[in-house]
Amino acid sequence: MPDEIAAGLSEVIADRSRVLTTPAVLDRLSHDFYWYSPILRGQLAKKMGDVALQPINVDEVLAVLRFAGQHEIPVTARGAGTGNYGQCVPLQGGIVLDLSLMDKLEEITADGVAVCQPGLRLGALETEARKHGWELRMYPSTLAKASVGGFLGGGSGGIGSVAHGQLRDFDNVRAFEVVTMEERPRVVLHEGAAVHEILHAWGTNGILTRIWLALAPAVEWTQMTAAFDSYLAAFRFTQSIAVDGAWSKRLATVFEWPIPSFFTPVRRVTRDGKALVLIMIANSQAEALRTAIEAAGGEVTFAGEYVGPRTQPLLSDYTWNHTTLWAMKADPAYTYLQCGFSPTTCEEQFRLLRERYGDEILFHIEFMKNGENVVAPGAIPVVRFTTEERLNDMIAYCRSIGVFVANPHVNYLEDAGRFRADNIQLRAKQRYDPRGLLNPGKMISFRREEPAK
Ligand SMILES: Cc1cc2nc3c(=O)[nH]c(=O)nc-3n(C[C@H](O)[C@H](O)[C@H](O)COP(=O)(O)OP(=O)(O)OC[C@H]3O[C@@H](n4cnc5c(N)ncnc54)[C@H](O)[C@@H]3O)c2cc1C
Repeated sequence: MPDEIAAGLSEVIADRSRVLTTPAVLDRLSHDFYWYSPILRGQLAKKMGDVALQPINVDEVLAVLRFAGQHEIPVTARGAGTGNYGQCVPLQGGIVLDLSLMDKLEEITADGVAVCQPGLRLGALETEARKHGWELRMYPSTLAKASVGGFLGGGSGGIGSVAHGQLRDFDNVRAFEVVTMEERPRVVLHEGAAVHEILHAWGTNGILTRIWLALAPAVEWTQMTAAFDSYLAAFRFTQSIAVDGAWSKRLATVFEWPIPSFFTPVRRVTRDGKALVLIMIANSQAEALRTAIEAAGGEVTFAGEYVGPRTQPLLSDYTWNHTTLWAMKADPAYTYLQCGFSPTTCEEQFRLLRERYGDEILFHIEFMKNGENVVAPGAIPVVRFTTEERLNDMIAYCRSIGVFVANPHVNYLEDAGRFRADNIQLRAKQRYDPRGLLNPGKMISFRREEPAK
């Protein structure tokens, strides 16, 4: 970075300790869990920012964006760097805007809305909310580390989605303030439907600096696991619980064998050769669930109370995308897909995939509610990687049989699943970042308009 730029940045962030240039630090702050993908691993390992800045308030964010705009320097926002698509990896260098110091919880309102800064960790928010009789509606399995801003910027749903849908559903995200990268950067409030212009756009069209996130009344939860002889028996039982609104649940997960064998710290809750079910159920329904499991031919292998993010063992550490992590620890040849099966024809879809790919694909189901109030089998199947062609063949085949795939082996929004057909994220980028300086390269349908000559 030219000296004059480095000097200018020091004026924008007066405290030198928050202007980071040490290569090892920059390397860490420029990367996330992109290495989950054998394809992205090769593409992103060497990508780095030139400097990382750690603002502590919105005025500093504004000053950084003003400065970066004047000098046409790319800016890539970072929360905790737990994304798994390389979302926060700066493809064109420039500034890594590390928002982890903007981590204040301003308020939990009487009607259950958390007002906070983007760097607040979700685990801290869950702990604090429960003290006030509220809890997160949904959280990724990276609860302890992930930030609220990063979840809104790059995540989608998680534990709780079986009851509350995803971030984009049911007004779960009430509002936020976003800093633009216009010629004169400003703070704009997005409320209600307008949040969808910025939500899950990977920081390509604005920087979230203040967030209003809806919470749910806190429930006392039990974590329960059960072993079933076959995957289909486990799946059918869990689906019956997931779709039945009479059960109050936060998580409904199914793992085909041998996935449970990867969970080395909690092998005691698994049974050799059997599928494993994991359900977070209201304490008041735990005994009824146990009875239902046994009536369906399952064996309850564990039941224990959830007492917040510090619960031991915290069984959500084996769900959602953590399942992939355990699989990769067991065998580095494993990778994954992010899928949505049909609520009605999923068993036929499972059969077709098994017929074509055998145990190259292992089923891991996470039930989640969609915006139409239908609880459907989402999935993060574990996939044995051989070649890119084979992986792409599997993705294409999934799509051909009606299985939705958010491709986690690409580094741009359009194919990674959440790009909106109504193009409102693109239009927001054209408005708020016309020079294409925010996280460049991640929204490939964006074209910078060159001024007429
Ligand atoms: C083991 C594992 C399990 C996971 N499980 C889940 C899961 O269950 N559900 C799920 O949805 N995801 C999951 N993820 C992905 C990720 O952990 C979550 O989406 C998490 O919420 C990201 O938060 P973060 O703070 O780490 O964001 P980061 O990775 O730092 O950022 C994510 C994206 O948001 C952008 N961003 C960050 N802050 C802002 C801001 N203030 N304004 C604008 N843009 C911003 C970044 O530029 C980036 O594009 C998982 C990942 C791993 C590795």
